[in-house]
This record gives sequence, structure tokens and C-alpha cells, in this order.
Amino acid sequence: AAKRQGGASHLHYRPDMGGSSNDHAHLGAELRAALGTDQLFLLYQPLVSLDDASMVGVEALIRWKHPERGLVSPADFIPLAERTGLILPLGRWVLARACRQAVTWTERYGDAAPQVINVNVSARELREATFPDQVAEILAETGLPPHRLVLEITETTVLTLGASVTNLHALREMGIRVALDDFGTGQSTLTLLHDCPVDELKLDRSFTQSDAGDRRDTMAVAVIQLARALGLDTVAEGVETAQQADRLRALGYEVVQGFYFARPLSVEQVEGELAAAHTPARVA
Ligand code: C2E
Ligand code: MG
Ligand code: MG
Ligand code: MG
Repeated sequence: AAKRQGGASHLHYRPDMGGSSNDHAHLGAELRAALGTDQLFLLYQPLVSLDDASMVGVEALIRWKHPERGLVSPADFIPLAERTGLILPLGRWVLARACRQAVTWTERYGDAAPQVINVNVSARELREATFPDQVAEILAETGLPPHRLVLEITETTVLTLGASVTNLHALREMGIRVALDDFGTGQSTLTLLHDCPVDELKLDRSFTQSDAGDRRDTMAVAVIQLARALGLDTVAEGVETAQQADRLRALGYEVVQGFYFARPLSVEQVEGELAAAHTPARVA
């Protein structure tokens, strides 16, 4: 079978594009087997304050290092995990790992450690009636205070409202924060914002990466005004240039994320940054 050839053509294998259903089943089985091994791991991308360039938080981003296919993108395997239901144990693993990591960093680096840990949650997880209890259990086990956890959901995640909204209320009552990821790309953004209890908007990178005065930039202006009117915090995603950072600062954005400041980093790379921040800049 083609999948056995390995090589670069499979690095961006998409379960929904080409390949037989047999291939999908095979990849799904491999993903299931990968759970609990070091094939699956988390990277952490800094959320950076535009004030002083400090790392105010990190977003956990999953990676799958497949033994033959190489690095498989989460954009490829998360949808597969959602279809097969594997997202439920996978999501629990991500959440537990990320919360534990945040606590470890605080123990080691004190105030220099990232204050918040952002974790992506998919629709399937949020719909589970037991989801808030599972999160509470993980917080209790790891000792992470709820206000240090931000759950990132997308507009499509909550389009199938129902149980999800009940769960969002329960999570926020626990003190956990909720961010709307990729904000502005959904089909019914304003209706959703009306019905869906959240704390933060993450401006999608398609709006961040625009030039002052063009139509997409106008959306960046509108979103911060909307956020202020609703009392919501903002994060601008996908900042790749100094000009974009300057423009966002001028618009009033305070926290950003993007390759210009930092790519998703390994645990060791984050610790390198933290150790530098933790150590006095000048030693007598
Ligand atoms: P997302 O949550 O919107 O994450 C941001 C994505 O943008 C990440 O891609 C990140 O590497 C990328 N990014 C960050 N800065 C820049 C930039 O300056 N320019 C550009 N072009 N890209 C940037 P990644 O890690 O490949 O993740 C893709 C998506 O997969 C995530 O989008 C999220 O929806 C999903 N995902 C990742 N990890 C998890 C997870 O643990 N659970 C769930 N349910 N979904 C996850
Ligand atoms: Mg996200
Ligand atoms: Mg995003
Ligand atoms: Mg995204």
C-alpha cells in the first residue's frame, strides 16, 4: 500500500484527502497505539506581552512523531481523533500533561514561570456531560489553580451548542477561563458571541497579518472594540513581523502570539527561556 512507502509525500497526509478508508483506519489504529508513548508530545508556544515582551502564558500544541511518516500535523490527526472518539482519552492526556507542566515550571522558576496554560479543546470533548468533572479532577490531581487554565475552543466547536454551553458555564464557575480561538473565521461570529460565555477572544491570524487600512485590518480594529465593549480580553495570533506587532500595539492589543516572538517550543527550550529570566541579568 502507498502508506508503506513513507517519505515526504506523507508528511501532510490528510485523512479527508485521498487514501483509502483502509488507510484511515490504519492511521487511526496507529494513533491509538501512539497514545501513552513518547510519539505524542506537547510543544508550548509563548503568549507574549506587548508591554515588556514577557512570557505571560503558553499554549500547549500537540505533536505526533510517527516512526515512518515523520511529524504529522495536528491539523491532520486531530480531525481523525475526533471522528474515532480517540480525542476523548487524547484530550484528557493533553490537559493533564499541560497542567502538570505548568505546576512544575512554577515550582522551579517561581514568578518567571508562565502564569497561564492554554489548552485546545475540541467539540467532541466539550459536548461530553462529564467534561467539567474531568477537568476538575485533573486540576485537583495536578494542583493547578483554575484561574491559571485557559481552555481554547473554536467557533465551530460551539456551533453545536446544547450541552457545550452548559459545560462552559460550569467550567467558568469553577474559575477556569475560556477563549474563543481563531476568532472571526466562523460563519456566525456575532450570534455565537451572544450565546456563548467566554472570557477572551483570540484574533485569527488572517486578521493579524494584514496591512494598516486594508479590509482585514479593519476587522482587527473592530474585534478589539467589540472585546472592550463586552469586557473580554484579547490575544492576537500569528504575529510574524515587527510591523504587525507595532500595528497591534497601536490598536490596543496587549498580548500576542506568533513566530516573530517565538515558535512552539520544546520543554527544554521553554526552560532555557525561564532560566534566563529567573537569573539576575547582571552578576556582581
Ligand atoms: P490553533 O489552536 O489556532 O494554534 C495555533 C496554530 O498556529 C499552531 O499550529 C501554531 O504553531 C501556529 N502558529 C503560531 N504562530 C504562528 C505564526 O506566527 N504564523 C503561522 N503561520 N502559524 C503560527 P499547530 O501547532 O500546527 O496546530 C494547528 C491546530 O491544531 C491548532 O490551531 C489547534 O486547532 C489544533 N491543535 C493543536 N494541538 C491540539 C490539542 O492538543 N488538542 C486539540 N483539540 N487541538 C489541537
Ligand atoms: Mg489554539
Ligand atoms: Mg488559533
Ligand atoms: Mg487555528
